[in-house]
Amino acid sequence: MKVAVIGGGAAGFFAAISAAEHHPRASVVLFERSNKFLAKVAISGGGRCNVTHHCSSPSALVQHYPRGSSFLKKSFKHFQVRDTVVWFENRGVALKIEPDGRMFPTSDDSSTITRCLHEAAHHAGVSLRLHEPIHALEPRTGAWLVNGAPFDRVIVATGGSPKRAGLEWLEALGHAIVDPVPSLFTFNIPNRALNDLMGLVAPQAIVRIQGSKRPQTGPVLITHWGLSGPAVLKLSAWEARTLADLNYHFSVHVNWVGEPNEEVAGARLDEEREAHGKKRILNACPFDLPRNLWGHLLDQTGIGREAIWSELSKKSRNQLLNTLLNDVHAVRGKTTFKEEFVTCGGVALSDVHPITLESRRAPGLYFAGEVLDIDGVTGGFNFQAAWTTGFLAGQLKSAAP
Ligand SMILES: Cc1cc2nc3c(=O)[nH]c(=O)nc-3n(C[C@H](O)[C@H](O)[C@H](O)COP(=O)(O)OP(=O)(O)OC[C@H]3O[C@@H](n4cnc5c(N)ncnc54)[C@H](O)[C@@H]3O)c2cc1C
Repeated sequence: MKVAVIGGGAAGFFAAISAAEHHPRASVVLFERSNKFLAKVAISGGGRCNVTHHCSSPSALVQHYPRGSSFLKKSFKHFQVRDTVVWFENRGVALKIEPDGRMFPTSDDSSTITRCLHEAAHHAGVSLRLHEPIHALEPRTGAWLVNGAPFDRVIVATGGSPKRAGLEWLEALGHAIVDPVPSLFTFNIPNRALNDLMGLVAPQAIVRIQGSKRPQTGPVLITHWGLSGPAVLKLSAWEARTLADLNYHFSVHVNWVGEPNEEVAGARLDEEREAHGKKRILNACPFDLPRNLWGHLLDQTGIGREAIWSELSKKSRNQLLNTLLNDVHAVRGKTTFKEEFVTCGGVALSDVHPITLESRRAPGLYFAGEVLDIDGVTGGFNFQAAWTTGFLAGQLKSAAP
């Protein structure tokens, strides 16, 4: 049997190794169009490669995928985080868990992962070809012509395509395509007073967009161009399509203190006023906020940094509460998050079987990785989807009942 794997990224390597190991007599060829294999793995996680995320069950894991969660729930039953850990362990790579659940090689070096994948591919007998873009894929009875050469099975692992045009060759084979738009980005907010606070973090904030039912919680980082940090990145992922439709011009509502209940937050202000009436408000903040951000919010509400608690009028107290819980900022554009970005959209999951990863439109054709309409939030979830779909596609099972 001859197997072609198109795309030499995380999913393509996992698929090719899996195919060669499950089918030792097959000849597996991996085609990469560029001059480098595993380019994203090499730069991933700030050069450390965030391989996966500590998560003990498929149902917990799928909570982190804005697109593809019900599809992946079925896939993860056959290859999940613990299988990834064992896969790398069996090939001499130990992974460690960071306090936030992200998993990295103990070497803290992505070259440990790229080297492991190269060695595993070599050991399994995968033939690796650089500078070989695949432009054409034609069905023949029981086979495929890949750039004119016949193959029995083909696995497409070409990664996310920023433009729909990059997916038209797969559409031509009968697959529905979900329009690609970016995910995982930060918000541009041209507001000098806010931008001057760059580097400050509100550790427990809640961010949402108008009308959305999905507020996101976590740290919010103020940057010199706007807002970033885990809560903002999660919001960009869950709202990727809505925000693209708005052309990235929208209002973000920030709850700086992470307390959704107005009465509870108001009571904390009142308690502080009772306990520290003679103190400057600036020096007695009842919430976990950096002093300069607290001062900025006092300025914004007109209270200022010199006021003392006992002087705070009811009206000012209510204005402060409103600013703390619902500070609205006009977002004007986005900036790519350089640590990790992905594409939302791709080959529609309705056309692919979630356990075999075989196309429902073209038997003998398989998909793996970001080319599918699957993407996760930051934290190792995108690679986990690539490992899982790559491994399962490489089994080359048939979707037919
Ligand atoms: C800077 C950055 C850092 C990241 N860090 C992390 C992280 O730490 N953890 C995490 O989980 N995720 C991370 N991600 C996301 C993760 O890298 C991707 O989700 C993952 O690489 C997808 O794997 P893939 O194999 O599907 O696609 P890709 O890695 O994009 O690989 C696809 C390959 O196919 C090749 N190709 C495309 N078309 C053709 C063709 N026609 N013929 C031949 N070859 C072709 C491409 O050149 C490419 O090499 C990061 C992303 C970026 C951009």
